[in-house]
Amino acid sequence: MLRYETLPVTPFQQNCSLLWCDQTQEAVLIDVGGELEMLRAAVKQRGLKLVALWLTHAHIDHAGGTGQLAREEGLPIIGPHRGDQFWIDGLPQQSVMFGFPPAEHFTPTRWLEDGDKLQLGKSEVSVRHCPGHTPGHVVFHAAEIERCFVGDVLFAGSIGRTDFPQGDHDQLISSIRERLWPMGNDTVFIPGHGPESSFGRERRTNPYVRDLRGA
Ligand SMILES: [Zn+2]
Ligand SMILES: [Zn+2]
Repeated sequence: MLRYETLPVTPFQQNCSLLWCDQTQEAVLIDVGGELEMLRAAVKQRGLKLVALWLTHAHIDHAGGTGQLAREEGLPIIGPHRGDQFWIDGLPQQSVMFGFPPAEHFTPTRWLEDGDKLQLGKSEVSVRHCPGHTPGHVVFHAAEIERCFVGDVLFAGSIGRTDFPQGDHDQLISSIRERLWPMGNDTVFIPGHGPESSFGRERRTNPYVRDLRGA
């Protein structure tokens, strides 16, 4: 069975998630934006073995600490989709612009495509490509625990910004409706910022994407 814990990092309170298989204790960190010592301590405290770093997209608050941690721990970087190459190349400028510590450049070990499957211990996680906030944004769907790690695609009561270079509002809405909603109304999502919610709740109440009646 998969288990997870969300660990907000950086001044942007980005929800880095520690996800692990409780049979093998193998773990990944999703979106290592920074605060590496805190994240290392969280892994150690639970007796877990980090096997990879996964990325939803390459904005600084999600990816800023990924290159350094991967190098120091000898870990593969999985994701995002190739469409975010220019955001990875722009990490040094992003860190200056937002007052972050210098971000180390990296090359993902593996780019992800829509429909890819990732093994974590005895469990499998599915990848969906959800462009709009960034062109290479992916989400990680852990169907067996009805959870989805959605980065900055969708928030409780809101959606991702699309005013960045290559952001696309219509594409974001399509990603949410065509690739997130089919995961089911009971699926709980872990957004890149703020509290968890379920897809059903957003379909009833989120002013940007609601399409169901009732509360
Ligand atoms: Zn973002
Ligand atoms: Zn973010």
